[in-house]
Amino acid sequence: MTQALTARRIGILGGTFDPVHIGHLRSALEVAELMQLDELRLLPNARPPHRDTPQVTPQSRLAMVRSAVANAPQLSVDARELTRDKPSYTIDTLESLRAELAPEDQLFLVLGWDAFCGLPGWHRWEELLQHCHILVLQRPDADVEPPFELRNLLAARSQSDPTAMSGPAGHISFVWQTPLAVSATQIRQLLASGKSVRFLVPDAVLAYIEAHDLYRASN
Ligand code: ATP
Repeated sequence: MTQALTARRIGILGGTFDPVHIGHLRSALEVAELMQLDELRLLPNARPPHRDTPQVTPQSRLAMVRSAVANAPQLSVDARELTRDKPSYTIDTLESLRAELAPEDQLFLVLGWDAFCGLPGWHRWEELLQHCHILVLQRPDADVEPPFELRNLLAARSQSDPTAMSGPAGHISFVWQTPLAVSATQIRQLLASGKSVRFLVPDAVLAYIEAHDLYRASN
């Protein structure tokens, strides 16, 4: 007798993580718990070399994300976009991920509302849902209308309960979450002005920043 296959549930949260901070990590953990994911992967995006913060290489961004999730069993890091020599389109990343998964595995692409609204500008955006579900993070107090191009897609594909999305791909749902008031921009600014970022980033990330003297004005 063949054993029933258990589909894995994998989430993907892309970002520049320059540096990763507690806002990213709380949000990722809450999504992983709500959705009962087997794994939520933080996926650092490549950026054109001239756009990386001076003195902060993709390898440093990656090292910080790795150290941030080292003790969080639900969270992991996927470095595939940093191992390519140019920034990747999300559709390429999804195809590459899919090639490694079983056909029944469920893939959830986690996007903030702003990113979701920009979807119609993405390369081959209409194919994204062939490979994944989309989970849109929305603030509880938000009162926003999706752009015109997304209305038909939402009407056809959205599901009110994110935990009820079935199958490997194809649906859109919303997770209502209050983000912590922290951004990487704020962290870079604090460090550049010589201030502490303790408690805004995990201690291991703080230790990395200090050991490598990152984000300081003199860099
Ligand atoms: P920057 O300030 O440099 O623009 P950022 O802090 O917004 O950076 P990104 O790496 O651009 O961080 O974000 C990656 C993902 O995490 C995005 O989807 C973004 O919406 C989300 N995110 C950023 N900050 C928070 C936060 N405080 N809480 C929850 N999610 C966040």
